[in-house]
Amino acid sequence: MELSHKDWIAKAQAITFPTRAIIDGKPVEALSGRTFDSINPATGQVLATLPACEAVDVDFAVQSARAAFEDGRWSARSPAERKAVLLRLADLIRENTEELALLESLDMGKLVKDAATIDVPGAAAIFQWYAEAIDKVYDEIAPTGEGDLALVRREPLGVIGAVVPWNFPLDMATWKCAPALAMGNSVILKPAEQSPLSALRLAELALEAGLPEGVLNVVTGFGETAGKALGLHMDVDCIAFTGSTEVGKYFLEYSGQSNMKQIWLECGGKSPNLVFADCDDLDKAAEMAALGIFFNQGEVCTANSRLLLEKSIADEFLGRLTEKAASFRPGDPLDPASTMGAIVDESQTARIMSYIEHGRKTCNLLYGGDRLKIDGKGCFVEPTIFSNVAPDNRLGIEEIFGPVLAVTVFQTEEEAISIANNTVYGLAASMWTSNLSRAHRVSAKLRAGTVSVNTVDAVSPMTPFGGFKQSGIGRDLSLHAFDKYSGLKTTWIKY
Ligand code: NAD
Repeated sequence: MELSHKDWIAKAQAITFPTRAIIDGKPVEALSGRTFDSINPATGQVLATLPACEAVDVDFAVQSARAAFEDGRWSARSPAERKAVLLRLADLIRENTEELALLESLDMGKLVKDAATIDVPGAAAIFQWYAEAIDKVYDEIAPTGEGDLALVRREPLGVIGAVVPWNFPLDMATWKCAPALAMGNSVILKPAEQSPLSALRLAELALEAGLPEGVLNVVTGFGETAGKALGLHMDVDCIAFTGSTEVGKYFLEYSGQSNMKQIWLECGGKSPNLVFADCDDLDKAAEMAALGIFFNQGEVCTANSRLLLEKSIADEFLGRLTEKAASFRPGDPLDPASTMGAIVDESQTARIMSYIEHGRKTCNLLYGGDRLKIDGKGCFVEPTIFSNVAPDNRLGIEEIFGPVLAVTVFQTEEEAISIANNTVYGLAASMWTSNLSRAHRVSAKLRAGTVSVNTVDAVSPMTPFGGFKQSGIGRDLSLHAFDKYSGLKTTWIKY
């Protein structure tokens, strides 16, 4: 049964927030006693006070993770045993959908109905997928010839640091933890300081599912302290990071300054959405163009933040697009009637508004453009569309990470490809055409980790996800994610 606004409010009032980090299977304070507040961006209300972990706490977590890895309490279990525990975790996530969805929504402002129908089921599905995969991936025997047997086996790396952002807190944690744990590693998860709550609940559920103590640790705290300490730690084997390109580059430096740990990066994007005049369903394309930028308040790394329109259909398309944009209306994230939630915090809201100010001076404001308050409170921004955005305008180049769409018109296919690729990012791209040859020709030339044709933001546990250029290194999701969390061992036997 679908919950009403009143039901969600009642559940939110009854919820108990986690308030401690989880290290070695136990809830702990930071050794310094320092704390920070988790704030609901829709109301400004303090939800919980959490430990601000620092280097010494990270070291404690690394020691715990290392001990767990070395004694084999998890790493030496058979794939089938690890599968059973992770399948139980997937079930527990499903059983606790409402609580997890509320933690997510209250902590970072997304719609609770989206969290309950997309984020939480998505996290359960990912744990299930990697649990089911792990006893089906075979190792190799190299074709050496008689008298030699060369076994090529995947081994878990050891201690993995997972550092994740605030836009999909539970899902980004899951994309790292599920394959890393399935492979037999120990993990230290560092959620974003804006959204630590669901990660802590996830670790509690993992313990309940039977994951041994010390195998999944959660250190809450700030990037410059807890995140940096993980990056610089001499006994962390790998960092799996999702976040901004700027911070991703810091992790490459941390690795060089410490133990050359492997660094995998899922970073920013400025994804283009190309609509050609031969698209046979412009209404659908307009609907999806709006969804592609306004879903999750535009706080999506693959958000289709640049719309490139072929000149002959541009005016008609923009008419349809503004109609579709009208169906996105910021409101109380706990109200199932709302179609957009709150921006994660004041500073991100100010950042988005500064881009909108720049757009007002340099482009044509077609729709939205204002900051809103709901019931006199909170960080809300209208869905906003700028047209006449020159390809080299900041709005067409820089990641805004908010509900702001930059529209540019093109005349030829070559020009469209050239504008689309005119970015330091290469995470995703979408295109709309009914011409099969063009679909293949253009998608091959778009420099993006995922190209969606006649849809936007296609994503699945079955397909790799990640970017070219400054969008990152490595791929999440699919069996390829195991490459991040394992190393190849050759054992050569002469007989
Ligand atoms: P962010 O880079 O500010 O923070 C990400 C994480 O890094 C947080 O846990 C943060 O505490 C930590 N961190 C921050 N500064 C650090 C430092 N100096 N040293 C070590 N750790 C540090 O990113 P954000 O604002 O939380 O998230 C938004 C960004 O994430 C956007 O750029 C978005 O595109 C990106 N993102 C990418 C993907 C993807 O898969 N490619 C998915 C979601 C979000």
